[in-house]
Amino acid sequence: MVEKVGVGGTAPASPMVVQSMTNTDTEDVFATSMQVAQLARAGSELVRITVNTREAAAAVPKIRDRLAQMNVDVPLIGDFHFNGHKLLAEHPACAEALAKLRINPGNVGKGARRDEQFAQLIEVACRFDKPIRIGVNWGSLDQALLARVMDENARRAEPKDATEIMREAMVTSALESAAQAEALGLPGDHIILSCKVSGVQDLIAIYRELALRCDYPLHLGLTEAGMGSKGIVASTAALGVLLQEGIGDTIRVSLTPEPNGDRAREVIVAQEILQTMGLRAFTPLVAACPGCGRTTSTVFQELAQDIQNYVRDRMPEWRLARVGVENMTLAVMGCVVNGPGESKHASIGISLPGTGEAPVAPVYVDGERVVTLRGENIAAEFRAIVDDYVQKKYPERQSH
Ligand code: SF4
Repeated sequence: MVEKVGVGGTAPASPMVVQSMTNTDTEDVFATSMQVAQLARAGSELVRITVNTREAAAAVPKIRDRLAQMNVDVPLIGDFHFNGHKLLAEHPACAEALAKLRINPGNVGKGARRDEQFAQLIEVACRFDKPIRIGVNWGSLDQALLARVMDENARRAEPKDATEIMREAMVTSALESAAQAEALGLPGDHIILSCKVSGVQDLIAIYRELALRCDYPLHLGLTEAGMGSKGIVASTAALGVLLQEGIGDTIRVSLTPEPNGDRAREVIVAQEILQTMGLRAFTPLVAACPGCGRTTSTVFQELAQDIQNYVRDRMPEWRLARVGVENMTLAVMGCVVNGPGESKHASIGISLPGTGEAPVAPVYVDGERVVTLRGENIAAEFRAIVDDYVQKKYPERQSH
């Protein structure tokens, strides 16, 4: 089943899987299909879409069909809150089209209806043989469960503080819901857990506890991470610690895009976290020096940006055509101080002229100085060297 690959964790060598989520209106088949395709082309290996209305549920099979027409086969995850039991009962084709269902135990229903509606969701998952992610979120934690955990805590001889209780309630919500799902007949290997919070230390503590207490695959993500550098730094700080400890099977970086910003940025950041930690390789990364007073021009900054963008643009094609190209490394350096050394360690490196240096840019390929570029066309000539290297170094895929 394709989703088993997607959730990871079923075998020790399962790679971490990158996931993302659309922010289009799911009822808009065209816009959602286009964004799913964009995220998939950026490298998202699972894409989640919200399913919040009857029209959205009816749109899901159409989105799946449209993606098939675009040759995009990325698995879709349906995100259900409040009315998921009804939508799935009324739209079996929606369940069929999805690879996985995400439910939030805090938003399944209140009181006695909670268990009934939870059971309906699990029944759908069993009938269509779909994995479920039980996704607890601090912002919508099951209030009845929280009250119970707080009551139990109050009766302790040494009650825990509020932070510990919040963490305990999150973990309890996930584990009790998973046990309930298994009791209802959902196989354990169809269950994935997540417990998302927005605090870095909370996230680390909660996932350590989850990893200790269960064998379910875990989906990692810092929720409401925020915009720009804050979102990236907070996500990296939290996920980096957990990944280093071997915790996690799928990840999502929940960035708030800038107005009209690129939704695929969250995919790139997730990939870069995994790649810079040496866990997976997705796209050749460019090492570049920060620049200093020895470089008075922006030439090397522009070249570093140009070549990183170029490589990203070419990767969808290279990935299909060439074996191992994602392992290529590039270096763009500002001057002779560290330029040649760093360049020699890369597959291809270039050292640009700093202040007072001769206006030449030596290029190194696999540690050997092969050519010296000069003049106005350094960027184009460097790209051509990269193209040539890819052609010669990485064998063609047989199936291509
Ligand atoms: S390589 Fe040169 S330009 Fe770049 S930071 Fe080092 S000294 Fe400065």
